[in-house]
Amino acid sequence: MSDAETLFERIIGGEIPADVVYEDEKTFAFRDINPQARVHVLVVPRVRYRNVGELAEADPGLLGDVVGACRRVAEAEGIAESGYRVVFNTDGDAGQTVFHVHAHVLGGEQLGLFGK
Ligand code: IMP
Repeated sequence: MSDAETLFERIIGGEIPADVVYEDEKTFAFRDINPQARVHVLVVPRVRYRNVGELAEADPGLLGDVVGACRRVAEAEGIAESGYRVVFNTDGDAGQTVFHVHAHVLGGEQLGLFGK
């Protein structure tokens, strides 16, 4: 992987402003700039892996930390009881645009079925 910083590393570093909703030692979460649901938060590990598959292979504990942070975000946003969706877009056909693994936490309304 290139050493060039990704957009999300610049957000984590405070270089680019973001609406931060949660952070801990290992993860960082902020609102998506182009929300696809009433609640749409991105949860990012501070350490960069390209996608969720690479993260799972390299550091399954950190993947658990990311998913745990998604739950804490859902609780903080008041959607843990009503239900929410966690999405990891992975590479081309899924439309991944930022190659620093991130979970989309979506909810706050009835979500449509996924697919195309
Ligand atoms: P992906 O398509 O799964 O890689 O998701 C990237 C997400 O980052 C998209 O949903 C974008 O709307 C979001 N995004 C892009 N730039 C920013 C930003 O500066 N702040 C917050 N979210 C961003």
